[in-house]
Amino acid sequence: MEKITSLCKRRGFVFQGSEIYGGLAGTWDMGPLGVALNNNIKREWWKMFVDDREDMYGLDSAILMNEKVWEASGHTGAGFSDPLVEDTKTGERFRADHLLKDEGIEADGLTLEEIDALIIKKGLLSPKGNPLSKARQFNLMFSTSVGAQENIKSYLRPETAQGIFVNFKNVLDSMSPKLPFGIAQIGKAFRNEIAPREFLFRVREFEQMEIEYFIKEENWEEQFELLRQAIVKWNQHIGLSDKNVREFEVPENDLAHYSKRTIDFEYNYPGKGFDELAGFAYRTDHDLKNHQEHSGTKMEYIEPDGSRFVPHVLEPSFGVGRAFTAILCEAYTEDEMNGEVRTYLKLPKHLAPYRVAVSPLLKNKPELVERAREVFTILKKDFGNVAWDDNGNVGKRYRRQDEIGTPHCIVIDFETLGEEDASLKDTVTVRDRDTGEQTRVKIEELADFLR
Ligand code: ATP
Repeated sequence: MEKITSLCKRRGFVFQGSEIYGGLAGTWDMGPLGVALNNNIKREWWKMFVDDREDMYGLDSAILMNEKVWEASGHTGAGFSDPLVEDTKTGERFRADHLLKDEGIEADGLTLEEIDALIIKKGLLSPKGNPLSKARQFNLMFSTSVGAQENIKSYLRPETAQGIFVNFKNVLDSMSPKLPFGIAQIGKAFRNEIAPREFLFRVREFEQMEIEYFIKEENWEEQFELLRQAIVKWNQHIGLSDKNVREFEVPENDLAHYSKRTIDFEYNYPGKGFDELAGFAYRTDHDLKNHQEHSGTKMEYIEPDGSRFVPHVLEPSFGVGRAFTAILCEAYTEDEMNGEVRTYLKLPKHLAPYRVAVSPLLKNKPELVERAREVFTILKKDFGNVAWDDNGNVGKRYRRQDEIGTPHCIVIDFETLGEEDASLKDTVTVRDRDTGEQTRVKIEELADFLR
């Protein structure tokens, strides 16, 4: 993980938030290559879950919402808090369930009294070796106030899902979808995590990709299985190997009272082990019913025969940052090439920040540079994310592009100009990132070759 974090900073993927002012815990900024990878993840997700299907509708709801939304959803109550304990000497705060988990004790769903009793029984101390305070619930929502009078309370949304539920009726009325159908949203979410940690894994500001998939109650098992398979396919599409992903079936006694089944998709993060990548829950009609009750708006679907009911819902919920981290962990590779150790990112082509890099063999030969610019311009029109790289010698460029996961490097050399062998005129060298193999390809066939 340390190697990946340092590569991310060195190569412009991820920077510490507000770094020049000493940072702000739990925030990270995406650099030029990070934002490219992040956008590719979101674009591929949208394509797979929305554009390529007929049963999905997109949405982009506001981050600030009426505070009643969070009362109805239960977020202002104890349901959205974590148990907090303090180091009684230093005042540092920790998540009690995480401290217990580090000791091999599963503390999900325990009451505060049960947590206190366990801490005493196990003689658990803070990481600095000091006694711990009693546990208390700490709500994770960031609150803010809206308007010049600052008298309207609001929150930064802690999930995108509620924006979907409150627009259920709008989508129904404007689009007339037939069940089953889903509403998908990608956007920022904010949680005042007690202890942000592990790079992008647990942060205070992050992005989610969520779907609420509305179904008839009697079909939930069949629909659950279909969506589960779609999630498996997604994990493969972003290059995660089957051995590093596992499905954790949340035991019945740990399920939220309204959920009939929840699967956590977990990734085997290096140095950390399996932990949540995405969640998938059958939430019954709990959310729509709550909003119906609190808002007085009917959340019903009407069948052609006039019968009405509140649909049930399946919720796949993905964190972009956790996918980003898993993708980098999976792609990070060290091997030996030409007797040298090299580091490269074996990113899938559709996720790599740059699809291809173009360079002239020598940057002080105008005829090479001119031809290389031509090739660059042609490919740029076609692929968009094409890098121009003429820094250092070719070997250095290859190493740099390998390290940021560029699948192919193209070099325009004297053979391209036809100066050495007329049969090679208008061909370029294409080097493959993973094998280092070089192929001569005609310029006019380059785009097809890459595709
Ligand atoms: P955890 O148990 O790890 O705190 P959670 O069960 O609270 O996560 P959900 O509420 O199910 O998470 O959120 C859905 C997804 O959003 C998670 O699977 C994860 O990918 C992402 N996510 C949640 N909290 C964070 C966070 N603090 N930082 C980064 N991603 C997060």
